This record gives sequence, C-alpha cells and structure tokens, in this order.
Amino acid sequence: MGAAGLSLSGMTGCGTGTSGRGIGPVGVKVIDAHIHATPGRIGRTLEIMDDNNIRYALLIASISGTDDNLYVGDKAFYELIEAIRPYRNRLGVHYTYDWTLAETDPDFFSKAPDMLEKAVNAGAIALKNLKDLGLNARDTEGRLIAIDDPRLFPIWERAEKLGISVAFHVGDPVAFFQPWEPGNERWDELKLHPEWSFADRSKYPPLETLFEQVKNVYRKFSGVRFVGVHVAGYSENIKAVGSWLDELPNLSIDTAARIGELGRHPAADGHDFFTKYHDRIMFGTDLAFWPDCDVQGAGPCENFSTEEHRKFYEIHWRYFQTDDRQFDHPTPIQGNWKIDGIRLDEKTLRELYWDNAYRFYDLGRFNVS
Ligand SMILES: [Zn+2]
Repeated sequence: MGAAGLSLSGMTGCGTGTSGRGIGPVGVKVIDAHIHATPGRIGRTLEIMDDNNIRYALLIASISGTDDNLYVGDKAFYELIEAIRPYRNRLGVHYTYDWTLAETDPDFFSKAPDMLEKAVNAGAIALKNLKDLGLNARDTEGRLIAIDDPRLFPIWERAEKLGISVAFHVGDPVAFFQPWEPGNERWDELKLHPEWSFADRSKYPPLETLFEQVKNVYRKFSGVRFVGVHVAGYSENIKAVGSWLDELPNLSIDTAARIGELGRHPAADGHDFFTKYHDRIMFGTDLAFWPDCDVQGAGPCENFSTEEHRKFYEIHWRYFQTDDRQFDHPTPIQGNWKIDGIRLDEKTLRELYWDNAYRFYDLGRFNVS
C-alpha cells in the first residue's frame, strides 16, 4: 500500500517553482524519517509537518526535559510516547538508552534488553543509539564501551526477537575528528561547540575504528534491520557507504542533516548513489523542536517562523528534484560551500520520500496515509 495513491504528476519542472509555494513535492506525501521533538512541542511539530506535506515523522530519539536539562532514557521515552499517543498515525518514537547508567549501575547490561522490551510494548517503534556509544559511554570501571562490546549483544538479540530495527548514529563529520583549529573546515560549528571535537586521540578512538565496530555489529546480527543515520555517518565518502550497503543487506541509511555534504559531491555521483540504493535510503532532515527553540539540522537553536521551516524543506526538495547548480545548502553552519541538485527520477523520489520508510517501519499498522 505504500505507493498506492501517490501521484508525482506535477513534479516535473518543479525546479522553477510551482503554485507560488516554491519548490515542493507537489501531490506527494512525505515521511520525514529523522526529526526530534520534545513532549511540549508536538503541536508545533504537527503544524510544520502539515505545512510541508510531511504526513508522518519519526522522532528518532527519546529526548525530553527543558533546554537547560535535556535527558534521554526511560523517563524521556515514556513522556514522549504519552505526548504522541493521540497522533500515532502521524508520529513514531524510537527508544533511546541513557548510557550513563552503564557507568553507575553494575547491572545495567543485564537489565537493558528488558528495558527495551518494555518500551516496545509501550509503543516504541525502534531503538536508536546516540553517538555517545563508542565515543563517551563508559562502564563502571571507567572504560569506553565499544559499539561491538559483547555485553551489548543481548540488546541486539532482543531487538531481533521483538522485530524492531536499530538505528545507529556513529561518529560525526570527519572534520570533528581532525584538529580543533581555525583551519578546520567545520570551524564555525566547532568554535560554537568545542565539545563536538573528537580530535583528542588520548580520549577518543579514530572515526575508522568506530566504523569498524559498528560494521562488526551489522555483520554479526544479520537478522536485525539497521539504520545508519546521517548517511551511515560517512556522507563525505559515499563510495565507502555504497560498499557497506553492498556488503550488508540488513543496512539502510537516512539523509538527516547531510544534504550539505551530499550536495558537495559531483551531482552525477550523488544521482547514481541515490538511484543505485533506491530501496535503502530514507528521507530525513534532523529538524529539531526543542523546548524553547528549533534547530534546522545543525546550527544555533532559534525561533524559526513557519516560512523559514518551509524554506528549509524546500532546499531539500531542490537538491533531490532539480539539477540547479551552486545553491545554498540547508545547514549553512556546516560549511561555506554551495551544492548541486541531483534531479532524481519520480520512482526513486517516491521511494526516498515515502515507500522505504513506510515499508521499513510497517506504517500500515498505524493507518499512516
Ligand atoms: Zn538527529
């Protein structure tokens, strides 16, 4: 049923702007497979979704609290699932572990699979692991917990038994692992968030190590469906990501907050990547509605207007649907360069915007339409 009733007619020529609404997926429903919202912002989230033809969105981590005190884990998950209960046909929530428990509770690893099962019974659609796993999360001995640590295996096994997918945010942009200095190509971001730098090798493993660790998990748990968010963490190298997708049939990816990087590749390469992996890539933006302000994929938290959020989505449509050249990407803070559109065909767009996420999360059971 995913594609039924979808019409992409009217999309041709959208690069020139149709219907006075600017560039948009005319007549096409969209699933945004990667957003964030805290319980008090669900109303605004739905408003912006409606304005951009986003029929369904996945809150890809359970995060709640106030701007000064955001938290993950059980409390956040149960607050969030309660907040979206009336909108199960519009929003889904991932369960997210609070890995700091691994540092304080010696029994965390044995409790974790049951925590997941309880969350799934309460309505969690999937599991999402934040980037702190592998980078910051430590056990009670103070040792870093590797992504492929065997103590985590029962969690992935339980996910398979429960039939839910597991999303990993692994690493971060390549530049965050390079020296924290003005020459760094993501200096604007790193200057604003020094804590995003993972350049200190005495504290953090290299990015390649994190990729090896997560691939070990993808390989070993071949019965689990995994999502590598943010283009599997390696949008700078879509050739490598392509080789992972070739090797690992249980891996899918999303595009969240990576149009800036994707649009930097020669347009033909981007076009070929999205066309070749047409059934493995889910559209996502990383738009975040935090307690008192919003973040458009990256950058400062601000009070964006409806119009500004529409522009944010329109740049995505422009990237995927036109062959426009050298325009601004949606996340200016990620780098001072322009991007080129890749003009995907209608079938590929339909899969990217709707079919893949619909099928992956079996959204028919929530009457998503
Ligand atoms: Zn995100």
